Amino acid sequence: QAKARGRDTLCFFDPDMQATLLASTHLERDLRQAQALDQWQLYYQPQVEVNGKTTGVEALLRWQHPERGLVSPGDFIPLLESTGLIIEVGAWVLEKACYQLASWAQHDRFCHLTMSVNISPLQFHDAEFIPRITAIFERTQAPLDRLKLEVTESLFVDARDSARDKMLFLKALGVRLSLDDFGTGYSSLAYLAQLPLDQLKIDQSFVRQVLTSSANAAIVESTIALAESLNLEVIAEGVETQAQQAWLFAHGCHAYQGYLFGRPVTIDALEAELDVS
Ligand code: C2E
Ligand code: MG
Ligand code: MG
Ligand code: MG
Repeated sequence: QAKARGRDTLCFFDPDMQATLLASTHLERDLRQAQALDQWQLYYQPQVEVNGKTTGVEALLRWQHPERGLVSPGDFIPLLESTGLIIEVGAWVLEKACYQLASWAQHDRFCHLTMSVNISPLQFHDAEFIPRITAIFERTQAPLDRLKLEVTESLFVDARDSARDKMLFLKALGVRLSLDDFGTGYSSLAYLAQLPLDQLKIDQSFVRQVLTSSANAAIVESTIALAESLNLEVIAEGVETQAQQAWLFAHGCHAYQGYLFGRPVTIDALEAELDVS
């Protein structure tokens, strides 16, 4: 209701509500300053194959807030989306990840690694997305065949054709495309088959219950079968136990990401882990 009365009118309901309102106002103000204050960080989580060898990483955004500490994306991505700030921040993430990938290309130890980067639907649909991303590729000289952009099914709810055109453009540059959180959205299978995808990522909500819910097990099995028939790679996210990994392996999924293999960590910690393994 407060919203309906317009931006300049605040009405206070109760102290709790007021506190929440103020908290989110501060959050938005702080988010707007985060870039200038250099508070964004990238963490990297390993992606492994059956023998435990790390084949790549996913870059995950963190916010180093002076009072709140290290804030996870679940607490601020929605606000970045609703304010449109995700377009700037997403470009920062991509550029940082591409510089990292380019730097790994110079090291025997790391030159095989792929880099997965999450792209928000708003960022992808932005009119400047392709020029921006092309400029980042030129600046960083990242090896694009080792870059994977993670998109979600919500990308295809509206503007399907323009989304597909942008994907085709990226594919032509050699970039790989992954469909994140697969199974949680509403994409039609017929449409999926027409998209230039390289990978399906099984959402962690299904992986978590793969041993305890036959419905979830069935969803994971169908996803693996779908990936196979469409000739796509498949990777499971949120793998936390040996038993989950064994089940996935037995059902044909041979790539994993999850706490069982490693949490998201700083670049230094990641490189140190890879050096000893
Ligand atoms: P996502 O892309 O599906 O990333 C996987 C999330 O699962 C990450 O959470 C990761 O830390 C978490 N995870 C990985 N393995 C496990 C596990 O074994 N158990 C559990 N419980 N969780 C696991 P995180 O880093 O908090 O990110 C949450 C979401 O925020 C991401 O989900 C992604 O949708 C979004 N996000 C993160 N970074 C970016 C970014 O740079 N740009 C955009 N647009 N979105 C981002
Ligand atoms: Mg992801
Ligand atoms: Mg995911
Ligand atoms: Mg997820």
